[in-house]
Amino acid sequence: MRTIGLLGGMSWESTAVYYRLLNEGVRDRLGGLSSAKVLLHSVDFAEIAALQRADRWDDAGELLAGAARGLEAAGADMVLIGTNTMHAVAPQVQAAIGVPLLHLGDVAASAVSDAGVRRAGLLGTAFTMAAPWYRECFTAVGVELLVPPEEERALVHRVIFDELCVGVVSDASRAALRGVVAGLVAEGAQGVVLGCTELELLLGPADAEVPLYPTTRLHVEAALDAALAG
Ligand code: GLU
Repeated sequence: MRTIGLLGGMSWESTAVYYRLLNEGVRDRLGGLSSAKVLLHSVDFAEIAALQRADRWDDAGELLAGAARGLEAAGADMVLIGTNTMHAVAPQVQAAIGVPLLHLGDVAASAVSDAGVRRAGLLGTAFTMAAPWYRECFTAVGVELLVPPEEERALVHRVIFDELCVGVVSDASRAALRGVVAGLVAEGAQGVVLGCTELELLLGPADAEVPLYPTTRLHVEAALDAALAG
């Protein structure tokens, strides 16, 4: 089994899900007392979020690149960035290490494309929903991404940062986001990407008429495939 290096803490609410799913996945695949080999570098999310707000992506990239180097030095065979948004600096992180970075955008895009979906809705932070690089992961495999109107994008961003990242899971926000998902479906979305690693804490299959693509779960599955490949 290969060792998975995880850049986490963005937020730790979703990193906890990563940790649980990685271990459950190894248990399900190997049985017995088997569990995942994981190295975790968990950052202070307040520092990262401040750099995001200040548009200091290079500085955030440097911080994560340093953390990734540490994971590699400690024995990680691959590195995961446990957030969609911070893949904005994925090239900087990959350039700092000699082991593969398992890119969440590519993993999510392949899952959607493999399911035959050609038009998918996207929910995520305002950064992710506006990011050309995220859209490009999907267009590269023949999937068009739709985002909600601006007011709804602001709502989704608020729910992520003000609620989910601080452990608040609210029925009112679930109902509001169900409405956003329904709007995307009305626009022709055949599936909806939960393009923020906390969103699957709030939304599940029952919240949409089309398949949802939970990026934490998909990222974990891809990491397990890589860690356990023969
Ligand atoms: N975890 C979130 C994501 O997947 C948002 C937190 C962040 O800005 O990194 O995008």
